[in-house]
This record gives sequence, C-alpha cells and structure tokens, in this order.
Amino acid sequence: MESLEQCFEAVSEFCKTKMSETSHNLFIKPLKPVSMTDDVIVLSVSSDWLKNTVQERYSSLLEEGFLKVLGFPVKVNLVSRESSGSEEKSPLSGGITFSGEGAYTFDNFIVGPGNRFAHAAALAVAKNPSGAYNPLFIYGGSGLGKTHLLFAIKNELSKTRPELAVLYIQSETFTNELISAIGQGNTESFHKRYRTLDVLLVDDVQFIGGKESTQEEFFHTFNSLATAGKQIVLTSDRPPKEIKSLTDRLQTRFESGLIADITPPEYETRVSILKQKAEDLGYPLSDEVAQFIADNLKDNIRQLEGIVKKLYAYRLMDNSPPTIADAQAAIKDIMHEERPVPITIDKVIGEVSRTFGISESDIKSQKRDADIVQARQIAMYVIREITGITLEEIGDSFGGKDHATVTHSLKKVRQQLKTDQHMREMVDDIIQNSKN
Ligand code: ADP
Ligand code: MG
Repeated sequence: MESLEQCFEAVSEFCKTKMSETSHNLFIKPLKPVSMTDDVIVLSVSSDWLKNTVQERYSSLLEEGFLKVLGFPVKVNLVSRESSGSEEKSPLSGGITFSGEGAYTFDNFIVGPGNRFAHAAALAVAKNPSGAYNPLFIYGGSGLGKTHLLFAIKNELSKTRPELAVLYIQSETFTNELISAIGQGNTESFHKRYRTLDVLLVDDVQFIGGKESTQEEFFHTFNSLATAGKQIVLTSDRPPKEIKSLTDRLQTRFESGLIADITPPEYETRVSILKQKAEDLGYPLSDEVAQFIADNLKDNIRQLEGIVKKLYAYRLMDNSPPTIADAQAAIKDIMHEERPVPITIDKVIGEVSRTFGISESDIKSQKRDADIVQARQIAMYVIREITGITLEEIGDSFGGKDHATVTHSLKKVRQQLKTDQHMREMVDDIIQNSKN
C-alpha cells in the first residue's frame, strides 16, 4: 500500500460492498484520512453531526475494512473539523488556514505571563494524565487559547500515549448528543461511550449552566470517570462560581482540582505572536508593523491571528512586505467583521430548543402540546427582551401568530417569572447564551 490515501480508498471500496450507495456517498466518501500511527487511524469529517453519526454507525465497519486491507487491527478515530476550534467565520479567498486540530500543539503555543500557568498545567496533564491535576479547569476570555490548549493535550497524548481513549468535545455537543440519546431511548450507549474514556476534554463548559438534565448526566459521567482515576480537563469563559445556574455539587466538582486562568497577552507577547504567526505563513513582518498592530489590538489572540492572515492575503495580490498602512486597513477590516452580531431570532430559538430539548421546528410550529407552547412563549419573551422588535415581527417569525397571541405569551411568561425562581434562572441563561 503506497499511502494512507490509497489504503483508505481500498477501505472505502470494502465498505461500499456492505452498505447502500447513498449511505456510502453520505458517510464514507466525505471522510479524509489524516494520519496513522501504530494502531490509530485518524479520519476527519466536516461536521460534528457527521462525526457522531459515522462514529455510531460505521466505526466498526471501517475498522473491519482496515483490518482486511492492512492485515492488522487498528482503531479508527474520527475528528470533526467543525469542533477543531479553528472554524473560520469568513475564510479568506486564498483559502489559507491554520486549521485542523493537529495544528494546535504545545510547540506552537506562545507562552507569556497571561497564559504561563494554564500552559504549564495543561502540559503537566499531557505528560502525566490523572497524575497531575484532576480536574484541570482552565478559564479565560474568548480567543485566548483555551481550545488550543485542549487540542495540544489531545495531540500530545495521541503521540505519546496512543493507547489512551481521549475525547475532545464541546459542551454543546455533549448536550445535543444527550438530548438525542434520550429521544431515541438510547442512553445506555451514551453512558458507555463516555464512561469508558481515559481522558475527557470538555470545551466551553459554561454552556451547560441551566440545562438540568445535561448537568445531571454530566455529574454522573464526571463522577464515574473521577472515581476510576480518569483525567478530566474543562474550559470555560468564566470561573465555576460565575457559571449561572450551575448546581452546587457540579461547581464543587469543577473546583476540586486545579483552576488556571488565562488573561489577555501583554505587549511583548502580542508582538511575538504576530511575528511567529507571520513566519509560519512564510512572510516577514517588520518590528515596526508588528508593534503598530500590538499597540492597537490588545485583548484577543484570535484577532491577532486574523490580522496576520489578512496581511498574507493582501500579499497574494502584491508581493511586497506589509506596511503600516496595510496593517491599518487590516485592523479596520477585522474590527468591522467582529462587531457584535445582532442577536437573531434563530439564535434564541436555538438556545430555547437546546434548553428544553424541543426541536426548533416544533417551537415555530402550531403545535399545542403544553411543553412546546411553553418553550414557544419563552422564546417570544426572550426575543422581545433582547431585540426589542415589534410584536408583529415576533408573531411573523412564529408562523404568523397575531399580535394578541404574542401579547398573551409575554404576559404569561412575565407572570411565571414573578413566582418561579427556577424559571427566572433558566430564562436568564437563555438570554446570556443568546448574546454569546
Ligand atoms: P479560545 O478557545 O480561548 O476562544 P482559541 O484556542 O480558539 O481560543 O484561540 C484562538 C486562536 O488564537 C487560535 O487559532 C489559536 O491557535 C490562537 N492562539 C491562542 N493562544 C495562542 C498562543 N498562546 N500561541 C499561539 N497561538 C495562540
Ligand atoms: Mg474555544
């Protein structure tokens, strides 16, 4: 077998003989072989959904295929490009990315005073899982390297300890999987999947605030892993005590290991990040230009990286080294792109859907089941609270409900909120999450 690609071709052909052509086109064809170590083959897919489906339904078939083709057993490991943390909102026309979770390593993580402690803790965990800090809880603002550190742990372990079952997951994916497992009456395999891990890396755990069944399940998953001496690493945009509506017992668990925060990089670190990232893309960034950017962008490494990519794209058109004027233009572009996205109705409905475990289409439908009606009323209330759009517009986005229906819904929710503390917290969470 010449290459991993060819090997995978053969496996794909083998799978084709065992499934319908449609399924094959949908689930096997889009897989891309990424790497192969002694006994683990990594295949990447474009979305979390696809990854989970392939994992559930086809990983044993794929393993069977690899066994046939290679002559020895391997474990198939699927990774999603969506949750690799490098999802670009607006990819550059040139199509350059730093993406692929493999790109996030300890080697290319630049250490400065703001992230030194978190970096050291993550490295200690990667060198000695379950031996150093458990759980490790890393928190800090957006774009400061939390996801990068989780993948660095994962990548390090896949090199040094390939026998360990390591899972990276976003807390929202955990929630969605749980909801669908409950929906399909299939919680058993859900439990099994999580409870057989050696290392669980959960990203953006703040999103489980307020979601009771998820917290309940997470608590049990957490305990059974912890009791079995398995490593858990969590990230969040805030410390455990500030995660709204987090049950006390889960907060206590989160705080029971080591908590490390990441703060925005100071000037020198910003300059070195800029220079390093430009060098990675193969172009020179003068001190003057790097310093100019570092003076202007202060609190987010993702933005610094965005600038470096922009300047690279400018260079594709005109091959001269970036000037201060280029940097100015790039900063303007970035600031423009990053203006807070207006909170959309869809976002709110999505949040309500996740919180209640009711599908978005049911929320927008005419169905009258009590739980659906309640979710719908809360969605209307939250939309009204945070967007201030008119009652008519709200009615329109829920399948043409009239003004009176919307008014009635808002009134109903306001009344409930007066007396129901639990519901207040839940609505607060939905509002917070919708703004994120
Ligand atoms: P967060 O998860 O905290 O929002 P990410 O880990 O996604 O942030 O980081 C945003 C981007 O900045 C990523 O592309 C990441 O590689 C990069 N980055 C963050 N911190 C560093 C660092 N210390 N050194 C190099 N790149 C970094
Ligand atoms: Mg992240």
